Parts: sequence; C-alpha cells; structure tokens
Amino acid sequence: MPRFDVVALFPELIQPVLQHGVARRAPELGGFEVHWWPLRDHAEGTYRRVDDRPFGGGPGMVMLADPLARAVAAARTARRQAGSEPGGESAPVVSFTPAGRPLDQALVGQLAGGSGAILVCGRYEGVDQRFIDAEVDLEVSLGDFVISGGELAAAVLLDAVARLQPGVLHDPGSHQQDSFSDGLLEGPRYTRPERWSSRTGERPVPDVLLSGDHARIARWHREQSLRLTAVRRPDLIDRLRASGGLDARDEAFLRGLGTS
Ligand code: SAM
Repeated sequence: MPRFDVVALFPELIQPVLQHGVARRAPELGGFEVHWWPLRDHAEGTYRRVDDRPFGGGPGMVMLADPLARAVAAARTARRQAGSEPGGESAPVVSFTPAGRPLDQALVGQLAGGSGAILVCGRYEGVDQRFIDAEVDLEVSLGDFVISGGELAAAVLLDAVARLQPGVLHDPGSHQQDSFSDGLLEGPRYTRPERWSSRTGERPVPDVLLSGDHARIARWHREQSLRLTAVRRPDLIDRLRASGGLDARDEAFLRGLGTS
C-alpha cells in the first residue's frame, strides 16, 4: 500500500484536498496513507527559522537545508518503523520545482503502484541546492509556470494517486478511460437530455451513442480520442505509434483525418 510523507511549511493547504470527493475514499478504503511533517516542527531556535537570505545576494529568501533534512530523516524513520519500506528499500524523495520533470500520468501510475514517496514542498525562492543534491531523488514540475509553494503541487500529485487506488472510483473502469491512460486524450462525453436547447440552437447527442451497439460505440470513442489527440497533442500520437499502441484501423483513421 502506498504511503506518502509530506514535508511542508503549510500542510493545511493540502489536507482539504484529501477530505473531499473521490480522494477522501482512498485512505478510508485502506489503500493509501498520508503522513504530515510540518516543517516548523523541525526548525530550531526561538524563531524556528526555515529560511534565510541567499548567498551572493538577490531577491527573496531560500529554504534552509537543515530543517528539511531533519524532517525527511524523521519521515524515513517513521516509515521504517511502520514497515512501509518492504525489502528495506527507501522511498524516493520527490521535491517540487518548476525545473523538474513534468508530472504526467505515467509517473502518477508509478507512484500509485509502489510503496509511496516522501514529498518535499518548497516555498520562497526555492530550496538550498545542497539539500537537493544530498536528499532528493526526483524533482517534479506541474508545468511551465510558477506558483507560490510546492503544497499545491503535492496536492495535485496526491489527488491523482488517490483516484488510482483500488476501490476509490465507483466504476473501476473509469480511470482506464481517462485521458493519458491509453496514451490518448479522452474524447467528448454526453449525458441527458438527448436534445439540448442551447443559446445557439438544438444540440442532439451523436446518434451512435443511442444505438446500443457496444462495439460501434467503443470504436466511436476510440476515433474521437484519436481525432482530438491528433489535433491537440500530435506528440502523443507519435509516442503511441513508436510504442506500438496504434493498430492498422487507427492508422487508417488518422490518414483519413489528414493529420498524420
Ligand atoms: N524561484 C523559483 C524559480 O524561479 O524556479 C520559484 C520558487 S516558487 C515561488 C516556490 C516553490 O513553489 C518552489 O520551490 C516549488 O516547490 C513550488 N513551485 C513553484 N512552481 C512550481 C511548478 N511549476 N511545479 C512544481 N512546484 C512549483
């Protein structure tokens, strides 16, 4: 069962994400545990400092290596004592930074299926590089933008992992249809009413979805996924093709679109 240990200055920013909706069920179903390591608890001195001015000058503050290293060491000890590291293997230490590897469903799946990780959330202008060099196994980015702290990145990762835990989604097949699970974006979905009167006119549901012909419906979904992915993310089509994930029918469909 994956166990996540979160080192953060503001764990209270992450906790609500795991108290609502689908993610709330993950710990309840026993598949997933999260433990919190508030950084101030590992800081020293009257002011419990966790940051200081950067050497060489420059704007803002930098997170001190020592409190982070103490929090990670405490998390490691607790994991060992709880038997959360089968085979004595240490869980990876994952830190969040715009300079990291972009978070994707493959990494989420890897973390969801393993024994978890220790997540380190940065703040201020970032973390003393020596802590990263000494302790961090993987740096992860949410994307090409800057947020104020790693807590939101950790919340995103934990939510994505939680919904992959067995039993968490009411329909166990639904994450297999999610975008990226089969290497493609998920195509359009429709619900009632069959004809919706929009501001711009009547909009019926595509006929095929009302046909009851499951094979035709499955093929339609596949082709909608292929179409959307070819238009929006041709890089994903290239990757899927290289890994042998497109069959002759898919290739014929893509040729018909004129995008490949
Ligand atoms: N000065 C840093 C830079 O330009 O790369 C940004 C620091 S940011 C204000 C503070 C913290 O937020 C970072 O240490 C990191 O933990 C987190 N953070 C900001 N943007 C992020 C992103 N795109 N992905 C993951 N974490 C991010």
